[in-house]
Order: sequence, then C-alpha cells, then structure tokens
Amino acid sequence: MQSHIIISLNPIVVLVKVLGNAVLDNEENAKLCLCPGCPTYKKSNLSNNVFCARGKAIEKVKVASCLCPNCPVFKKYTLDQMYYCVKGKSIDVQS
Ligand code: SF4
Ligand code: SF4
Repeated sequence: MQSHIIISLNPIVVLVKVLGNAVLDNEENAKLCLCPGCPTYKKSNLSNNVFCARGKAIEKVKVASCLCPNCPVFKKYTLDQMYYCVKGKSIDVQS
C-alpha cells in the first residue's frame, strides 16, 4: 500500500519564521503596550514604550519585572521574549 505524507503549513507560522516577529511601530500598538505600568519602567523612569518595535530604552534600565507576556501586542505578534527595553527590537532578539 502506498503511503502519502501530507505536510500542512500554517502560512502565518511560515511568515513569522521568514520575516521574524516584526512589531509595527504604530499608534495602535503604542496604546496597547503595557510598558508604562511595568515595575521596571517605573523603577528606571523610562520615557519611551513599545520597545519590542522601537528598540532598547535610551535610559539605564534597572530590571525589576516585565509585563510583556501579558500584553496584547505580545500575543498579537506571537512574541516569545521579555525585557525588550534591555534587549532591543523583537525582530533582533528571536529565540
Ligand atoms: S510586548 Fe512588551 S514592549 Fe512590546 S508593546 Fe507589549 S509591553 Fe510593550
Ligand atoms: S519591555 Fe518589559 S521590562 Fe521593559 S518596560 Fe516593557 S514591560 Fe517592562
């Protein structure tokens, strides 16, 4: 009997693998970003947000904890890291 291997590719998963988790720097994501309420943000007196799109904070970051895993942007772009204010843009810090 002949056997057939069927490989099903989820186009979104393929796109993420090819393009990376590139978060758009737009107003919608800025509104959803949880950074301003984060202990690290407050402790470090940070001034920017959406670090997963914009990159590292310009201030020296005093790490406390990170709210990224609870953020709608994190879920929307299937991110898998934390502390983007320290590490930089999501597209540069994929696992
Ligand atoms: S994932 Fe983190 S850095 Fe990105 S928008 Fe959400 S809270 Fe901000
Ligand atoms: S990236 Fe994470 S640790 Fe940094 S300010 Fe945003 S929520 Fe806080």
